Amino acid sequence: MEHNLSGAARPIRRLRKMNTAAEGCTMRDAFGREINYMRLSVTDRCNLRCRYCMPMEGVPPTTHGDILRYEELLRVAQAAVSLGIDRFKVTGGEPLVRRGIVDFIRSLKALPGVRQVTLTTNGLHLPSLLDGLLDAGLDAVNISLDTRDNAQYQAITRSSHTADEVLHAVRLCAGRLPTKVNAVLLSETAAQLVPLARLAEELLVDVRFIERMPLGAADASASEPAHKETIDLLRAAWPDLASVQKRCGNGPARYYASTKLNGCIGLIEAVSHAFCASCNRVRLTSTGLLKPCLCYEQGTDLKPLLRGGADDAALRDAIEQAVRGKPAAHCFAERQAVTERKSMNQIGG
Ligand code: SAM
Ligand code: SF4
Repeated sequence: MEHNLSGAARPIRRLRKMNTAAEGCTMRDAFGREINYMRLSVTDRCNLRCRYCMPMEGVPPTTHGDILRYEELLRVAQAAVSLGIDRFKVTGGEPLVRRGIVDFIRSLKALPGVRQVTLTTNGLHLPSLLDGLLDAGLDAVNISLDTRDNAQYQAITRSSHTADEVLHAVRLCAGRLPTKVNAVLLSETAAQLVPLARLAEELLVDVRFIERMPLGAADASASEPAHKETIDLLRAAWPDLASVQKRCGNGPARYYASTKLNGCIGLIEAVSHAFCASCNRVRLTSTGLLKPCLCYEQGTDLKPLLRGGADDAALRDAIEQAVRGKPAAHCFAERQAVTERKSMNQIGG
């Protein structure tokens, strides 16, 4: 079955071999983009306070009642699968601070039709949870690390944790499951570009640099290294660094490879280079708002349906409604057009 939300007649295309009833669906938005990927936020809480993500204080804490229960998240996932969404990224806040997260990931991965479950984490709880996560069927992990310098890490994360703790987690994951290190590009960490990229030389990991987006606590006034500057710095270390067509995971990174590197270097030009034409995702906040685009506040609130006795058909309709409202492109380049006021930990980055 093809869910074509534009209203225009489109030929039905089977993009995958059908193994189960759920796997036969393809959902397209009004611009013909296939929507097959959902970022599921399980909490807005975090054990860090990264400067560009979360305010130090002042955000009214959500209560446990505000946050969707795991059964509710699974119900949304099941409805999404029946519409053609078959890959999920578990995120937050920090997903690994929520109790029961390993069993949730196990249940998510076990849903019929779910093809891939991945995780984005700051890595601090990975050493104690990694074995359980692997056993639960986790397919890949993204670990956030903006600097290898401990003092700088503490300043950026406004915490007493260290970059060494995160590096330990990265080393534990590398080679055991597909691992990416994600670093937000910050002016103060320009000297860390090459040391961070060197992780792709030392280990079997991809390292990706992400433009900071003007959301929530992010101060967009400071200038970050631009794309060309970043590539020039990296080419000075790896002269044969060349653009590759590789597409790793569901993200919009442009990848570069060198014969000296085990993994790839990725650049995610979230602000300057609109990759919206191939956007395949929606996001569910931890409080149940289904957001079709990061930069606009619009979304479809699924919580009243989940808690008000709505049946599966009504839930599917609501998901389709959110997808129907997906705009053609984000508006990060014109900051005044950004209507989303929540911070990244509340949205689910
Ligand atoms: N706590 C987990 C982590 O840090 O990976 C998951 C949630 S976090 C919000 C997800 C990703 O969003 C992280 O890689 C983080 O660096 C990124 N992020 C947060 N605020 C951002 C911003 N303003 N611009 C770009 N990326 C941001
Ligand atoms: Fe927490 Fe991740 Fe935000 Fe840092 S980026 S404050 S680790 S949610």
